Amino acid sequence: MNPPSYGLAGVLGWPVAHSRSPKIHSYWISKYGLLGAYVQLPVAPGQLGLALPGLAALGFRGCNITLPHKVDALHLVDALDANAARIGAINTIVVQGDGSLKGFNNDGFGYIQSLLDAKPDWRADAGPVAVLGAGGAARAVVLSLADRGAREIRLLNRTPEKAQALANEFGAPVRALPWSQRHAALADVAMLVNTTSQGMQGQPALDLDLAALPLHALVSDVIYVPMQTPLLAAARQRGNATVNGLGMLLNQARPAFEAWFGVMPEITAELRRAIEAGL
Ligand code: NAP
Repeated sequence: MNPPSYGLAGVLGWPVAHSRSPKIHSYWISKYGLLGAYVQLPVAPGQLGLALPGLAALGFRGCNITLPHKVDALHLVDALDANAARIGAINTIVVQGDGSLKGFNNDGFGYIQSLLDAKPDWRADAGPVAVLGAGGAARAVVLSLADRGAREIRLLNRTPEKAQALANEFGAPVRALPWSQRHAALADVAMLVNTTSQGMQGQPALDLDLAALPLHALVSDVIYVPMQTPLLAAARQRGNATVNGLGMLLNQARPAFEAWFGVMPEITAELRRAIEAGL
């Protein structure tokens, strides 16, 4: 029998020092007793076209792609998962058996799993969903909610053209509404999602009045630094259930790890605590 081969993967971005991915994947490599490593791959803008073709030759099974390369990398891989093509960005590359590169985007998977982990009876079709923001995270969130059967997604973005473009591209059930209507648009929703950067560490809180939000609505924020954004704190204060962005971060890593190392890893309480401690 051949000895198990050394598995190499990493996170490719610029900068990458802040990435939590090495901690997550290294934990799983150790937990499952695998031979391998997950390393930082700082690649400056402009160098991506040189770095990616080197992955196979260097023995990498793949890598995660983070800012600012998520869109550019999509155009440099040999094949694209259908979901990544719809989202328009990749966060994972898997080196295929023949050395070619295939791009994936697991953010939508991670997002839906994070909701199910927090609320196993959660359903996308429970009622209208209001999504704030129309950037990269919004694309993954909106598509995954639509795929899970959401019947009405009210999309509101500070720059209205971006929300409208996304609604045009994805079609029903996505409907763009003016940013000025974000407070009133919360009436009768089953879920509110923040995908803007507002409320993130170093950013002001999201300017949103929750008065119209039903108390049974779930409030989700994809931000995980801090874990409790001002939006989530205000929602909890008035009695709404909340889900932060940490579960999305942890869950998006699982399919990539499985593709590289052959094990679908679990999010243990120990892993969650370790990542929380570093936030
Ligand atoms: P992005 O593509 O740059 O989009 C940023 C969004 O925030 C845009 O919709 C932008 O609106 C909005 N925004 C920025 N400043 C605003 C303001 N002052 N008022 C209202 N809206 C404002 O960023 P992204 O990649 O989608 O990331 C967004 C957030 O999601 C970040 O906090 C990121 O950390 C988080 N995230 C979390 C995960 C996870 O795994 N949990 C994954 C991805 C991203 P305009 O279009 O008007 O500029």
